[in-house]
Formats: sequence, structure tokens, C-alpha cells
Amino acid sequence: MIERLLVKLKAMPENGRRKDHASILLPFFIIAIGLGVLAYRSYHLSVRMENSVDKLAQQYSAYAADITARHVDAAVRAEFIRASESWQQVERRVAVPGFSALEGWTNGNDWIVSAIYIPDYDPSSSVFVSEKTESTGGKARLTREFYTSSGTVRYTYDPDRLLARVRSTVHQQPLALEGDLRAVVSLVTNVRTPGLVRAKEGFAFIAQLATPLESYGVRAFVPVSYGSGWESHRVISVSLSFVALALTMLGGYLALRGMRKEAETMKLRGALIANVSHELRTPLSMIRLGAETLKRSNKLTEKQRTEIEESILREVLHLSHMVENVLDVARIQHRNAKALAFTPVLPRELVATLISTYESWIKNKGFIVTLNIEETIEEQLWDREAVSRALLNLVDNAIKYSADDKAIAVTLRQNAEHVILEVRDHGIGITANDLSKIFDPYYRAQFSDTQTRRGAGLGLTLVQQIVASHGGRIEVESEPGSGSTFRLLFPRHTSAESRHVPGLVHAPEPF
Ligand code: ADP
Repeated sequence: MIERLLVKLKAMPENGRRKDHASILLPFFIIAIGLGVLAYRSYHLSVRMENSVDKLAQQYSAYAADITARHVDAAVRAEFIRASESWQQVERRVAVPGFSALEGWTNGNDWIVSAIYIPDYDPSSSVFVSEKTESTGGKARLTREFYTSSGTVRYTYDPDRLLARVRSTVHQQPLALEGDLRAVVSLVTNVRTPGLVRAKEGFAFIAQLATPLESYGVRAFVPVSYGSGWESHRVISVSLSFVALALTMLGGYLALRGMRKEAETMKLRGALIANVSHELRTPLSMIRLGAETLKRSNKLTEKQRTEIEESILREVLHLSHMVENVLDVARIQHRNAKALAFTPVLPRELVATLISTYESWIKNKGFIVTLNIEETIEEQLWDREAVSRALLNLVDNAIKYSADDKAIAVTLRQNAEHVILEVRDHGIGITANDLSKIFDPYYRAQFSDTQTRRGAGLGLTLVQQIVASHGGRIEVESEPGSGSTFRLLFPRHTSAESRHVPGLVHAPEPF
């Protein structure tokens, strides 16, 4: 029963998170669907628009070709009539038209290539004018005749020349349409398949001319362009929809990420309460127990009394160390104005003072500290208290996480770019899996037994924050069972950059 309840309780935050995810993602999901529908609609509309433009172009080309063909037909007919009327005027002027009259008439109509006039009263005195240019070159010739009051005129003409004469009719735009829709009209020969043709970039319609020029036609071409690539409505609408969709997805991703961060913060807060409260309770209850024992029992020997007092002092120091760590992490995290105060500090002096301050405490724990200090290191602009706290945390960890080999080495050296502060132990080491997480707030490696090795998982977080706020970084090398080396790399300042300000090292309290 209790087990089931525990399982349920454990499952609750999971479900809650899933619900939260769903509620955050739902609006994005709806927007994405909306955008998808819009994209489809706009694509569909573009296709419909293109289809109706096609239809209009087809109709317009048919109309333009047909109406121009009829204009040409009318002009050809008018030319025939004009020719016969002009001959009749010749007949009216000359009683008996002869060769020169016929030649003058054919010259006046340059499309006529040869003609014969047969008078009714004497067919044997017919006159004939033949083509001046000899070879017809295989060109088509057509014959036509008309009757006059005194005879018959039969003539052969060149349809090309005739059409050239009426060509002006062809170029007229039969109808002005709005926009770019214009027909390009031209005359074509050898028409075999009149009607609509899908041309490369538009539509062409060929309308046949009337007899006798039925092998000729009028071609009207209407170019249709929807734009290509980025000019095409279809491409634009689809691409814009994709961009909007991608932005929506990015928004969804960012919202999820924000939520995950929020969840992380909540988790950290939970860890703080769980971890720190436990770590606070233990020393507090020990202090209380010690104080009560001191108060109640009169029969304590001097030795017992001293032991209890020392243990109370130890617990108070441990407590204050932990509270300082929690407060410092919070202060640096929130970039409090008071967070750090950079002053010129002699690193060797800082390290030596700190270690000598804690030497007895370290020795009491059975550890030996070896100091390797490079004497030439110049003054650096550091926050003395913060760097001391960082070093103290590293030494404290080296002590906490060591077993039988109780040797610690603290090294201070420099290279071209950094002043390097290194703490090496021969302790239990850190697994590769834990190495990436030990700087996370409240993280404690699996084997860090909370009873024997107390801590809230904030020490290294603070150390990393301190080095980072000095513009440096932290490195760690470790092998389970062999020990660990923590290395703080501070950017190196030269003497030109820092001023010497004598000051006392304010050492944090030991714990
Ligand atoms: P705390 O010591 O309070 O647990 P820290 O942030 O100082 O928190 O360290 C985080 C974790 O890193 C520790 O719980 C421990 O598992 C591991 N760790 C830190 N320093 C060492 C060390 N010198 N040797 C082995 N493990 C270490």
C-alpha cells in the first residue's frame, strides 16, 4: 500500500511536466496547423490563378487570331475589288484597251504578275502581259478573273505580295487587355493544322484565311508568365509558409527549452531544500545535544567537557562554512554588486597564509600539505577573500575525499598566460561520468557517503564561479582510486596592470 503510494508520488511530477509540455506546445501546434492550412490555400489559389490566366490567354489568342484573319480577308477582298474597279476605269478612258493599258494596270497592282484581257467583240485580239521576273522560283501563284462591260480580265497574282500589301492590317492589336496580356500577331504560310498550340512560353492560335488564301493563316501568340523561381507566386507562398512554420517550431523549441530550464531550477530548489536542510539539521542537532549535555550534567570530567566544546565548535564552523557557500553561490549567481572586490594580491602570500592558518586543522586530520610556490609570481588583481575560499574548498574536498593516503600538494605556478593554483590529493578520485557533473550545484557523486563525507554539493560550484568571475577556468584530472588534481587557471596580470596595495589576508574560518 505504502509502496504503491510512493510510486504514485514519484510519478506525479513526471505527469505534471508532461501536461505542462502539452499546454505550452498546444498553441504552437495550433499555429503550425493554421500555417499549414494557409500554405495549402495560398498554393491552391496560385494554381487556380495560373489556370485562369492560361484560359484567358487561350481565349485571347483565339480571338486575336480569328479577328485579324477576318480583317485580312476583308482587306484582300477589298484589294481584288480595287483592282477590278481600276481596270474598269481604264476601259472607260480607253475605248479599246491595248497592251500598254494592261501593262499600266498590272504595274499599278504590284501583286499581279501576269494578266490577259479578252475583249468580247474580238477574242482573237486579246492582249497579254507576262511576268517581268522570269522564274517564279516555285512560288505559289493564284489566278483570278473578272468580267467587265467589254470583256474578261484573267490575271495571275502572287499571294505573298498581295498579303504584304495588306500587312498593315495584321499588326493591329484587336483588343487592348489590362495588364501584360498582349497578342503578338503574324502571318504564316503553309497552314496545316489551324487551332490552338501550346507554345513554349504561352499560347498560340492559328486562324486560316478564307479561300483562295486558305493555305495562309494568322498566328496570334499570347505569352504567359507566372514568374520563375522567387518571382513565382507559388514558390513565394510555399516558401513564406515554410519560413513561418520554421519560426513557429523555433518558438515551440524555445518555449520548451525555457520550460526545461524552469524545471531545472525547480529541481535545484528541491535539491537545495533536501540537501541543505539535511546538512543544516545534522550539525544543529549535534550542537544542541552538546549544549544540553554541558548544561545538564555536572559530573562531566574536564576532558569530556573539552571534547564536547570542541565538537560544538567544529559543528558551528562546519555550519558557517556551508551557509557561507550557499550565500556566496547565490550572491555570485545574481551578480550582486558586493559579489567581488578586486584588489592587488600577492598570490604566494595568499596561499602561504591560508595554508599556515589551517595547518593545525589539517594536521589534526592526519594530513600533510606540501607547498610548491613559484616565488616570481607578481601581484594579481584578485578578490582575496573569494580566492581564499576557493582554495579552502579545494583543500577541504581533498581532505574529505581521501582515504589512507593523506598527502595533499598545493602548487602555485605560472605560465605565459595564467597563474595556476593546483590542489592534488591521493584520494578516492572521481569517475568519468561524475567529472562532467561535479560543478553542477548540489551535485554529489554516488560514492560521496553523506554520513562520513558531509557536504551540500555547492563547494565546486562556488569555486568554478569564483574562477570564472576572475576571467579564468577550472580544470580537473582524476582517476578513481588514485586521486584528483583540481587546477584553477587565472588570467595573468603583469606588473604594469596592477598596483601594490598592502593588505591583510582575511582568512575564512576553518571548519
Ligand atoms: P560537496 O563536497 O559538498 O559534496 P562539492 O561541490 O565540493 O560538494 O563537490 C561535489 C562532488 O565532487 C563531491 O560530492 C564529490 O563527489 C566530488 N569531489 C569533489 N572534490 C573531490 C576530490 N578531491 N576527490 C574526489 N571527489 C571529489
